[in-house]
Amino acid sequence: MDYQLLADLLYPEITETPEDIEARYPRRELPEGAQVTRFAPSPTGFVHFGGLFPSTVAERLAHQSGGVFYLRIEDTDAKREVEGAAEGLIKTLATYGVHFDEGAILDENGKIADKGNYGPYKQSQRGPLYRVFAKKLVSEGKAYPCFTTEEELDELQSVNKKEEIKNTDWQAEAESRRAEMLARRNFTIEDVKEHLAANHPFVIRILANGDPDKRMKFTDLVKGAIDVPENDEDFVLLKSDGIPTYHFAHAVDDHLMGTTHIIRGEEWLPSLPKHIQLFNYLGFKLPKYMHISQIMRLDENGNKKKLSKRDMGANMDDYTEMGYCPEAVCEYVMTLLNSNYEEWHMQNPDKPYTDFPFNIKKMSVSGCLFDFEKLNDVSKNIISRMSADDVYEKVLNWSKKFDPEFACELEGAPEMSKSILAIGRGGKKPRKDLTTWRDAKPYMGFFYDKYFTVIDEYPENFDKSDIKNTLVKFSETYDYADDMNTWFDKVKAIADSLGFASDMKAYKADPASFKGSVADISMFIRVAVTGKMNSPDLYTVMQIIGKDKTLDRINSMISKL
Ligand code: GLU
Repeated sequence: MDYQLLADLLYPEITETPEDIEARYPRRELPEGAQVTRFAPSPTGFVHFGGLFPSTVAERLAHQSGGVFYLRIEDTDAKREVEGAAEGLIKTLATYGVHFDEGAILDENGKIADKGNYGPYKQSQRGPLYRVFAKKLVSEGKAYPCFTTEEELDELQSVNKKEEIKNTDWQAEAESRRAEMLARRNFTIEDVKEHLAANHPFVIRILANGDPDKRMKFTDLVKGAIDVPENDEDFVLLKSDGIPTYHFAHAVDDHLMGTTHIIRGEEWLPSLPKHIQLFNYLGFKLPKYMHISQIMRLDENGNKKKLSKRDMGANMDDYTEMGYCPEAVCEYVMTLLNSNYEEWHMQNPDKPYTDFPFNIKKMSVSGCLFDFEKLNDVSKNIISRMSADDVYEKVLNWSKKFDPEFACELEGAPEMSKSILAIGRGGKKPRKDLTTWRDAKPYMGFFYDKYFTVIDEYPENFDKSDIKNTLVKFSETYDYADDMNTWFDKVKAIADSLGFASDMKAYKADPASFKGSVADISMFIRVAVTGKMNSPDLYTVMQIIGKDKTLDRINSMISKL
């Protein structure tokens, strides 16, 4: 067959050659070893926790090596596209430190625009480019058209697919598919002319030349040495509307855009033979690949399950509402990605995670386990190391959006709020009261009159009169100007006077000879002033609340007892 003639019949309007296009997309001039990576999401919904993984890896590898990290929007499936998803995705990723050097960006009106010399960065705008390469493959006999008549289309649509799948004999199915495929390859130029004259739609299929019984050696940067079968499937390159399939777009785009490392989910691993064949046919250098395992979670029965879209923790936007600081999520992702991150972090507690030398070799080959407990642990530590001013700003910002009433309280008393948040901060062992910004109100709400209520009740084993006497004595002797030791000496004196041990050692040695200890006396006062059995240091709490409020709360409790 005259393949050039075939190509010209199919695409008479295409006059550009791959060489012309290559000239428009020159190789990037980057230092030796610089990696060019991309994140290539389909704008079909929110950013999934599982998407933060490959994008973080890609961002780290590019920026760590002095390379380029770009964003390409893979919007070739218009049916699945969700309006605003691409815009949302850029914003969410930026929140989690995933910043692109190039690619689809948001302009000042919040609309998608291009930045960089290798665009357009939205696949739907790259149609002509794909067709040039498809035409080339057809002209070389490596791809061919496959026409569908109206009748065939109708027939396809009327088949009851579910019934068909249920009753399938798979062996026979494979054979018939193969026969179908070979039959498709059998056509003449005259057939093509007829179809074109009748305006029948066509797809472009690759002409596979692989032997499925032969296997190729391949090195995946995460999975290591593997072998994959050769491709023997005439898969579709261009759909009948001229839009490419993922496979074809991947080869053309990643080649023209100069991607050196493809970092993607392992669900693409089975398609690798197709991609190897395509890069070969097109004469493109095969990039390096990393296939990242899916994120797992434990279900109620302790079995590992894929973290699915609907699972708690899957949608990155939920983390904002839950009140997690992005730094914590990023650091948590690093602990999952690199097994030596935590050790490094312990040695370099003050350095940002971006200083960590990220290493592909330390990545988990099987799936990482997503676990809120671990995230919470990371988060608590991060917040405990922030300054009080910083925490104040962050809690305030979060509250403005999710709890405006609390935001008003914070803004109404900024100095008091900061002093509260300063309790137990600094030093080697800072307090870890906050896991998320959402925790701030339950933790510190009692300081504000608006939220103060007595939550905890006094344990029943204490005599009410002892509690009352403690509060009365305390209110009589309390002096705001006392230093902490004087204050505590007074509490101890109350303990002694009521038959409670002021000395913990003495109490432990012989608990039976006391009604309780000074710890119980403190608790009586604590519940009155904070409403809770547990609170930060009581002396400091009183210093922040002030004399009047402290005494008001004590007196109000006395009158209730
Ligand atoms: N659009 C593809 C996806 O969202 C991209 C895969 C890739 O990174 O190559 O799964």
